[in-house]
Amino acid sequence: MRRTRVVATIGPASWDLDNLNSMFDAGANVFRLNYSHGEPEQKTELYERIRSLEKDGRTTCILADLPGPKLRLGEFPGVRLTRNGESLRLLCGLSQHDGPEIPVEYAGLSAELKVGDSVLLADGLIRLSVTATGGKVGSFVDCLVEDGGPLTSRKGVNVPGTTIDLPAIGPKDEKALAHALEAGADWIAVSYVRNAEDLRPAKEAVKAAGKHTPIIAKIEHPSALTNLHSILDAADGVMVARGDLGVEIPLEQVPLAQQNIIDAGLMRGMVVIVATQMLESMTLNPRPTRAEVSDVSTAIRHGGTAVMLSGETASGNHPVTTVETMVRIVTATEEGLETSGGTPGALSKFRSTRAVAHAGVELAKISGARHILVATQHGNAPRLVAGYRPDFVVTAVTDRLRAARRMNLLPGVESVMVEEYERGSQTMQAAVRMLADNGSLKSGERIVAISGSPLAMRGATSTVRLYRLEPDGTISGTE
Ligand code: PGA
Ligand code: MN
Repeated sequence: MRRTRVVATIGPASWDLDNLNSMFDAGANVFRLNYSHGEPEQKTELYERIRSLEKDGRTTCILADLPGPKLRLGEFPGVRLTRNGESLRLLCGLSQHDGPEIPVEYAGLSAELKVGDSVLLADGLIRLSVTATGGKVGSFVDCLVEDGGPLTSRKGVNVPGTTIDLPAIGPKDEKALAHALEAGADWIAVSYVRNAEDLRPAKEAVKAAGKHTPIIAKIEHPSALTNLHSILDAADGVMVARGDLGVEIPLEQVPLAQQNIIDAGLMRGMVVIVATQMLESMTLNPRPTRAEVSDVSTAIRHGGTAVMLSGETASGNHPVTTVETMVRIVTATEEGLETSGGTPGALSKFRSTRAVAHAGVELAKISGARHILVATQHGNAPRLVAGYRPDFVVTAVTDRLRAARRMNLLPGVESVMVEEYERGSQTMQAAVRMLADNGSLKSGERIVAISGSPLAMRGATSTVRLYRLEPDGTISGTE
């Protein structure tokens, strides 16, 4: 059983049914849709296409990634080759422009930049220094190209050291968020979070829509490192967004920041996604570099619960091979991992569910059970159990497709759909029966079952039971 989850970003290179299907078969657990590109409505069909892959009880999981207050270039035709020493004019406040100048969406840039400031484009590949500005909003910025390279539309713009005065959720994010909730996204990622407050609009929108969609805070701004603990307290998961982080802080500080973010996430028993450039060279080549293989492995050994592919699968030449390669690295790394356990600290949220989850994990360890079953309605109880990173199988038991889909991002959690019986013990026994019948349980094995009472899924998590599959096929430990 593979515990670490693989997230694949979907784009033009992978959004046809064939590629999606092959990536799903190759082991992609989560498909990430990046709302920075295209209009939200254009993704509607993609949701349906991804859901159409579901078969034999295997569900899909969609992570909707909001654009956030990230500066981007506007649209311009073709590829613009920038050369060292050349001068380049940015026109601020334009979403589109056809001419020698390069459009930048954010109008305030020409007012906020000063002569001598650095501007980085395309994840820092291209570096400019400011030589003059129009000084007011919606004007121009003249730059000298320090490190040139090819430039295409919509690439990111970073101005390290300046705090850009944009709301966490702007009009574009609002549209994206509304679309994602309506289309049924399973997780929402909020980009460029600077403080815990920045998560609030997304959380409120989820609540207002009557959903339980969990929120992932992307850590990619220096302020997020300062406010890391309060941000994580307000989130359900975290992403080490190394692409922008590596431009916003000195590159050499990224590995230690990654470790700190992972540790802070694991302390809370939450999902931690390590993202960006993991197998970057596979965007072009069918084989990764040794250093990239090592990076994926390191992320897992340091405690990351998911690893992510970005451009490799969204726009690369080998989307399916890249997923296969990542799965192989994950599998080989997990084989070499001694134990992955840990005890997350106390959280004010879900206090009693966490206590019961802890009891269940301990009971499994002491009794030698290799399986934990967890009944759930929204996926929270299995999330808390997964937070202990047990080295045995966690099977979530639910009657809700939405919960089953969401749980694909949880490390080491598989789910089965079972109906809710009148009594919790009946529901849990039905689930044990199912695992016994499909060969997941061996004769004589013990199983820990965590559930609510009297209703296993809809009742508050309160009960831990210990079952045993007897050689004659009966389940003992039942009332
Ligand atoms: P992005 O986020 O791909 O949306 O920019 C990830 C990152 O910055 O690493
Ligand atoms: Mn980013």
